[in-house]
Amino acid sequence: MMSRNPDKRRNPSAKQLREADRVQQLHPLQQREHPSAVPADHDQLVHINTYGALPDYYIDQPFICRVCGKREIWKARDQKWYYEEAKGHIDAIAVECHGCRKARKQGLGPEVHE
Ligand SMILES: [Zn+2]
Repeated sequence: MMSRNPDKRRNPSAKQLREADRVQQLHPLQQREHPSAVPADHDQLVHINTYGALPDYYIDQPFICRVCGKREIWKARDQKWYYEEAKGHIDAIAVECHGCRKARKQGLGPEVHE
């Protein structure tokens, strides 16, 4: 069973962001073989109704926080947790950095709706 440490600090270095950007550009077959790729378990994705294909793997996903503009990486293992354990929707994408999510959960930040 995967576990997640919600208090883990996430401040990706410029190098980590560059590498994540680079992996995004790779061919899917290369992404799947990349050391940062985490295989998906389709048995844990049955809650997802999709006409598209389910993912075979997750890779680190760079994104820009829409609240504060900070660049962060949605880690492959966190995506797996989100989709397979938290049963998140497959179209969900990371839109807020760790700090902003945390602040919002504690009622300190702006309320953001989809
Ligand atoms: Zn932020």
